[in-house]
Amino acid sequence: MIGVTGILDVRVEFVCSRCLSPFCRELRVPFDESFTRDSELLDEERDNLHLVADDEEVDLQPYVEQSILLALPYVPVCQEECRGLTTSGVNRNVFPDAENEVAVDPRLAALADWFKKEE
Ligand SMILES: [Zn+2]
Repeated sequence: MIGVTGILDVRVEFVCSRCLSPFCRELRVPFDESFTRDSELLDEERDNLHLVADDEEVDLQPYVEQSILLALPYVPVCQEECRGLTTSGVNRNVFPDAENEVAVDPRLAALADWFKKEE
């Protein structure tokens, strides 16, 4: 059995899920995988132990990629206090006073005009 352990230092480019701005973040991902040619050592409890055929070389790339993918945040944000976008797409981190526009359903637009006449 051969064990491969370490820390993966990666720089990842994200797009903020609130304001859609690109940003980079350094990730430190623990890596711990083991490989064996003895199928009797396989155990359902150890999901990081992989069987390798006698004449097979181990390619670590898919295991490295999987570890990084599992460490990515589900909802990346540029900063915890990111204010996001207004409904018209203005970045509220850049323009903090930008307000959300009230969307009027086009089927009710005539009714909105009727209320304006009443004022
Ligand atoms: Zn953001």
